[in-house]
Parts: sequence; C-alpha cells; structure tokens
Amino acid sequence: MSSPLRLAGRLALVTGATRGIGRAVALAYAKEGAHLILVGRTAGALEEVDDEIRALGGNATLLTLDLKNRDKIDALGPTIYQRWEKLDILVGNAGILGPLSPLGHVTADAWDEVLNVNLTANWRLIRTLDPLLRRSDAGRAIFVSSGAAVSRAAYWGPYSVSKAGLEALVVTYAREVENTPVRANLINPGPTRTNMRAKAFPGENAASLKTPESIAPTFVKLAEAACTDNGKIFDLKTGDVR
Ligand code: NAP
Repeated sequence: MSSPLRLAGRLALVTGATRGIGRAVALAYAKEGAHLILVGRTAGALEEVDDEIRALGGNATLLTLDLKNRDKIDALGPTIYQRWEKLDILVGNAGILGPLSPLGHVTADAWDEVLNVNLTANWRLIRTLDPLLRRSDAGRAIFVSSGAAVSRAAYWGPYSVSKAGLEALVVTYAREVENTPVRANLINPGPTRTNMRAKAFPGENAASLKTPESIAPTFVKLAEAACTDNGKIFDLKTGDVR
C-alpha cells in the first residue's frame, strides 16, 4: 500500500518558482499533493513549471509578480483570502545576488534592488499573508537564507546584509507566532547547482554541486503539519541547526 501524501490538500505559495531551488520545491510539494501558487516574474517560465506539475498529476495557480512591485505584494493577502480564505505554506525563496564588489562601488540602485527583493519583499509577504497562515490549522513559513548571512565576506556586502536581515526578520516572526499553530523557519541550502551559484562562482564545476532536487526534502519536512520546529535556521551544508 502506498503511503499517504505528506502535503495532501495543502495550499502552498512559492516565490521564485520559475527555476532553481524554487522550482524544485514546487515540484516536490506537488508530488506530495499540495496545490501550488507559483510566483515568478515571467508567465512563460511559470507555465513551463505548471506543465511539469500537471505531468505529475498536480495542479497550480500562476501568479506573475515582480517582488519589487510593493503594491502587488500587498494585494496578495486579500486576493488569496477571497479565493481560499487561508494559506497553509509560504516559501519565500526568490532572491538575487546583486553586485559582488567593494561597498564603495555598489550603486544605490543595486543596493536598493538587493535589499528590496531579498529582504523587504519577504517582510511584505509576511505582513500580507500572516493573517492567512493563522487561519490554517498548521501555517508554515519557510524562507531561504545563505551562508553569506554570517560569513560577511568581502565584496558580498548587499547580499550578505540582505540575508542577515532576512534571518533576523524570520526569527522575529517565529517568536511572534510562538503561541499560534504557525511555524516559521529558514533554510540555508549551501552551494547548489543553479543560475545564481554559477553567476557567483563562474569557474566552478557545476557537476560537483548538489542539485536543487536533492535539498527539496527539507522544504517538505518543514512544510508538514507535523513540523514542530520554529525560529530555526537549517544549514544544509554542515547539517547544523541554529
Ligand atoms: P536562481 O536559479 O537564480 O533563481 C532565483 C529565483 O528568484 C528565480 O525564480 C527568479 O525568477 C526569482 N526572482 C529573482 N528576482 C525576482 C523578482 N524581482 N521578483 C520575483 N522573482 C524574482 O537562484 P537559486 O539559487 O535557486 O536561489 C533561490 C534562493 O536560494 C535565493 O534566495 C538564494 O539567495 C538562495 N541561495 C542559493 C544558493 C545556491 O548555491 N544556489 C546558496 C545559498 C542561498 P525569474 O525567473 O523571474 O528571474
């Protein structure tokens, strides 16, 4: 007898679902029976993931959204409420690397873009979706951090600052929901075979890196109603939990 699907009937919103880690997480959730709300900038790329989900027997709702569009993020909560009245799983995965250069060479526009996409957009997502996560019997919020949040390497300024801020944001949120059924955690995937990694380390042999699919199981575990972890940061490179 096959085991029951771990996310059967759950409604999950994944940002950055067009490729890389977000796409792998969306597919893993669909395989476990979740209905997906796929968020990404380009309709065509979302449709390709939608096709893959359908091929698995799942289904998805597509939401074309640039996370720099603050008003559109703020409208998400009311829109999802109208149709579903709640949200079970939020995955704040979308992110950009931004410039790798000395702080003095970073343009104000580049700084703002990295902080907007990697940090402020996730705060706005929490702000608009928190009431819906609280309406679920087991709301789960998962955000994607990076080793850069703590390594603070030279030339990685905007990205490092954005991820350090994201960790502070999500742990703060976790403390605020401690006495509710909502649970919020972060995952640091570690070096993973995606476009972003290739951009950061162009000389690297991508075949030596783990695939996005190989890290998706941790996203499933933290999305399950049975998950009791809250305010934790799971480092998939070292296996440490902070
Ligand atoms: P990726 O392949 O470059 O994918 C990034 C995703 O974010 C894409 O779906 C992209 O959508 C989306 N995105 C970027 N800017 C956006 C915007 N303004 N509005 C909406 N969506 C936007 O990168 P990845 O490696 O999968 O990264 C996923 C997360 O993992 C990021 O938060 C990253 O910081 C983190 N991370 C990755 C690694 C790694 O080694 N890969 C390590 C540590 C942390 P489009 O298709 O529209 O561009």
